[in-house]
Amino acid sequence: MLTTNPFDDDHLREECGIFGVYDVESAAAIVALGLHALQHRGQEAAGVTTWDGHLFHTHRAMGHVAGNFDRDDVIRSLSGRVGMGHVRYSTTGETAIRNVQPLFAELASGGFAVAHNGNISNAMTLKRELIRRGSIFQSTSDTETIIHLVATSSYRTLIDRFIDALRRIEGAYSLICMTPEGMIACRDPLGIRPLVMGKLGDATIFASETVALDVCGAEFVRHVEPGELITVSESGIRSIHPFAPVRARPCVFEQVYFSRPDSVVDGQSVYSVRKAIGAELARENPADADYVIPVPDSGVPAAIGYAQESGVPFELGIIRSHYVGRTFIQPADNIRHLGVKLKHNANRALLAGKRIVLIDDSIVRGTTSLKIVQMMRDAGATEVHMRIASPPTRHSCFYGVDTPERAKLLAARMTVEEMAAYIGADSLAFVSVDGLYRAMGEPGRDAASPSHCDACFTGDYPTTLTDHDEAAVPDQFALLDERVMA
Ligand code: AMP
Repeated sequence: MLTTNPFDDDHLREECGIFGVYDVESAAAIVALGLHALQHRGQEAAGVTTWDGHLFHTHRAMGHVAGNFDRDDVIRSLSGRVGMGHVRYSTTGETAIRNVQPLFAELASGGFAVAHNGNISNAMTLKRELIRRGSIFQSTSDTETIIHLVATSSYRTLIDRFIDALRRIEGAYSLICMTPEGMIACRDPLGIRPLVMGKLGDATIFASETVALDVCGAEFVRHVEPGELITVSESGIRSIHPFAPVRARPCVFEQVYFSRPDSVVDGQSVYSVRKAIGAELARENPADADYVIPVPDSGVPAAIGYAQESGVPFELGIIRSHYVGRTFIQPADNIRHLGVKLKHNANRALLAGKRIVLIDDSIVRGTTSLKIVQMMRDAGATEVHMRIASPPTRHSCFYGVDTPERAKLLAARMTVEEMAAYIGADSLAFVSVDGLYRAMGEPGRDAASPSHCDACFTGDYPTTLTDHDEAAVPDQFALLDERVMA
């Protein structure tokens, strides 16, 4: 079903991964491999666009990369030496194929394809303006706003139009674009979402994470810098810095949960950071227990760090089935509950009569913790001390990590003691915000100029959030009313 509400945007809930390769034989096959490695960033839909020197080819599908992009016929239909792709996840009703990226448009300058990771926090405001001026939107995704801004810019060259568009948007964006002339990759001035550059022989690759380079045997070249725009064409690679420099604020939740532990994000090994968070957690919040038990897989590196620091043995008290998706990545609340049971099972033989420290990376709604603590007790654990390898998640993310509205965040509604009682744990503790920064090699959070976006923990949003200002909302509905009345 297509939505009739142009502002029913689902971008608030988007999590994505992007990948692009310039000038390699059978680019689509390489893109498919890269997307495989980025599947954890979005599991609802995937898309690939290629350029064969004459034509663009696109295949977009709901579901995983495997099953859609490991098919010979699909890869053969995506001919060309230049290609890009996207994996996405969204939870709202609007999951139609028209929102699956890469998005594509024929502009005055020729074809233009775009894949976006992040969230534009003034997209609705810009969209309202564009619709008033006659733009006709094909999707409800915030990314399409970029295409319309490029199309309607008064600058002459495509790059100038693109920069003009970027200067009008706020929020988080790592982008890969393709035109007949070449590929463009860029990262917002704060570098909120990650983006790396790699090399496969003479081919240039861009990807959300380094694991996508590893999977296709590519070499890591460097991170795309916050605020940097890189073009790759027949005439070579060019780097532009079109924004006034500001202190970068990459997303700290990439380190905590979102990126794969075998990735290096902005120079930091995610695995090492997670282990170090576990060690901080052990120093800040020790517990008298027989075993340290991770909630797999996301709690594993922090649990190793906690066990090594505390001397309490690490054991696998929960076994995870790998044949179900991430619990969180299930659209409906009732399924999400079921998912926890499907995904995890207690190792009863180990747990009976034991006091355990249970480690997970985060508590969002509390669904996982509630079920897992109960599961541990059912399996005979005598004490369950829950330790969380991030500070309490008290604020929604408007920059591309799926978080529910504030009212659904457990830590926004309850004190830590109340949360402990709610999930049924004997004790509950979180790593401190300073502890999190120490794990990343800093003395603590630099309050005057933090090195990361940590808005989900602190509420300190590094950009304006035009669409989310209360004043902006009635106006959007006013426009809707006008449309209904017309
Ligand atoms: P919840 O069950 O709602 O408290 O969510 C916490 C669990 O979901 C933890 O086990 C995390 O590993 C995982 N998680 C946290 N944030 C996200 C996210 N943005 N997307 C998917 N899973 C998440």
